[in-house]
Amino acid sequence: MPELPEVETVCRTIAPHVIGRRVLAVTVRERRLRKPISADFASRLTGRTIHAVARRAKYVLLDVGDGLRWAVHLGMSGRFCVGDPPPDLPHVHVLVELDGGVRLYFRDPRRFGLMLLSESEADLGELGVEPLGEDFSAELLWSLSRRHRRVSVKTLLMDGRLIVGVGNIYANEALHHAGIRPGRRCAKLTRADTVRLADAVRFVLERAIASRGSSLLDYRDADGNAGEFQRMLHVYERDGAACRTCATPIRRQVIGGRGTFYCPRCQR
Ligand SMILES: [Zn+2]
Repeated sequence: MPELPEVETVCRTIAPHVIGRRVLAVTVRERRLRKPISADFASRLTGRTIHAVARRAKYVLLDVGDGLRWAVHLGMSGRFCVGDPPPDLPHVHVLVELDGGVRLYFRDPRRFGLMLLSESEADLGELGVEPLGEDFSAELLWSLSRRHRRVSVKTLLMDGRLIVGVGNIYANEALHHAGIRPGRRCAKLTRADTVRLADAVRFVLERAIASRGSSLLDYRDADGNAGEFQRMLHVYERDGAACRTCATPIRRQVIGGRGTFYCPRCQR
């Protein structure tokens, strides 16, 4: 599933191709995504100019003027690509033609993605703090951990209503980097833990963005390149393999229904 670094990579990849371009034509082949694409989507988007590309949580947001944003969510299996899809490629649901001969397409075999024109952030659901933004800090983690004392620290990190975009891969990796057991209750976090954890979350996300996102689970960025990050994983899906720090076998448990991986020696 595309996570924050992958979505950030898509934004950075498409931005130079689309900024300043006008939308000439929009073809919606399949409306039935997680929520249906609205019937007037194509007519409202056509003729507008793309002024900027930004990411909020796991949405790609294209500013198309008048306070309107073309919002794209990749869901479980979505790709938002520059260029023409290969002929007969299945699951291409939306095609967009821009001036200057630029084309975009949205492909999503599992159709958990979203495509909409958003007039305000409220259209995107309840979104927490950006982990790479100014509001994310040890102080924030400390106050969240006091308000959610009974949940595990991993569950807290992955609650998108509190902090957006820290999915399962990066929650596992950040907790390893910070030396904290994923199942530890928030009540047992110290201030020093929250300082290490805030640094670790930023570190793993920034490193993943620098290596163009993970290519786990069939992810490709908008130019079709696989990410390099999976080669840098320390715990995620490495159960039974030696910890890269201390050689102790990595363990797996299930927290909140998600596979959770940690080193029993490095993480306390
Ligand atoms: Zn270890």
